[in-house]
Amino acid sequence: MMNEQDYRDHPGRYGGVLSVDLDALVANWRLLRQRGTDAMGCGACVKADAYGLGAAQICPALWRAGCREFFVATLEEGLALREIVPDANVHVFYGVTPDCANEFIKSGLIPVHNTLDQIDIWSHHAGRLGQPLPCDIQVDTGLNRLGLSMLDAELLNDDNGRLKGLDVGYVISHLACADDIDSPMNNEQLQRFRRVRRLLPMGKASFANSSGIFLGADYHFDLLRPGAAIYGINPRPEMPNPMAQVVRVQSRVIQIRDVEPGQSIGYGAAHVVETPTRAAIVGTGYADGMLRALSGRGRAYLGDRPLTFLGRVSMDLIALDVTGLAPDQCRAGSLVDMIGPHNPPDLVADAADTIGYEILTALGSRYRRVHVGGTAFDP
Ligand SMILES: *Cc1c(COP(=O)(O)O)cnc(C)c1O
Repeated sequence: MMNEQDYRDHPGRYGGVLSVDLDALVANWRLLRQRGTDAMGCGACVKADAYGLGAAQICPALWRAGCREFFVATLEEGLALREIVPDANVHVFYGVTPDCANEFIKSGLIPVHNTLDQIDIWSHHAGRLGQPLPCDIQVDTGLNRLGLSMLDAELLNDDNGRLKGLDVGYVISHLACADDIDSPMNNEQLQRFRRVRRLLPMGKASFANSSGIFLGADYHFDLLRPGAAIYGINPRPEMPNPMAQVVRVQSRVIQIRDVEPGQSIGYGAAHVVETPTRAAIVGTGYADGMLRALSGRGRAYLGDRPLTFLGRVSMDLIALDVTGLAPDQCRAGSLVDMIGPHNPPDLVADAADTIGYEILTALGSRYRRVHVGGTAFDP
């Protein structure tokens, strides 16, 4: 592994730099936590390597800030987290399978049970070991993704013995339309979740993702469960973003070239220039998460200056329009912002017809990754 100094000495090793501002990230987590009450907990969803930004650096920073509940999707992610934040409560959304129950138990990971079968597996192991086993229960309130049905919840209410040996930490559910404050779905799911809590009143309750936190106190329950907003994604797309920007992606100019009118740039000769054009060819492509859908639509920045994408995004390269810039303003070795202050992940996502979540998780492994800040111990 190279360090930052090595990068400065050898920028030529990488096509670009991905920096993650851990201070901004921790500030975002605190801002979300403050929207709840003191008695309430605030966890963090760190699945998919903390939304692509590096769980190994991000989780310890959140831990130092006071975060104790971490959510991942897979057992494998949970096992990795065990090493990174050994004393944290690690919740695994996919829940338990017969072949992996012992690994959950051995590592003290908390499965989120989504089916009655998963509950039965857990109860069986608790009986076998003669001790209650920690877990969560997810109930589906309308997203129709993971979780017990309302009918299952009623069944459990009638047949409480089925929960024997389960030490239920949280009963959870997940919102489908939380980013749309006007959606009637939000209140429908809230009412259903309240009924879930009457049927399954054990443990604590967790309901709100990032956007859900901004739907109001009714949605908060005992534990907030944000992901995206921690990483700077706007939880209320219709309003100015209250979150600080966490990620910056700078791409290195590999070569500058002049293109004559009538010539084309890139695969498929999809872009034909009409006037003399100077192109900066930068070392980032769709393999680095600059989606091919950004072809002809994306925008990078050199300082405050926008540079439009010319032609198709290829695997490792993108052509940017630097016509009119003086040779010393942009040359081989210059760094341009593919994601930066002027083009945050949400804007890049708009240009690619997707969401900021996908932009972050797609960033890939080829960047020189730098995590700055996040060292202060200040719970
Ligand atoms: C990913 C996830 C979250 C976090 O959602 P964000 O919109 O990123 O805040 C919360 N709950 C569940 C079940 C999830 O899968």
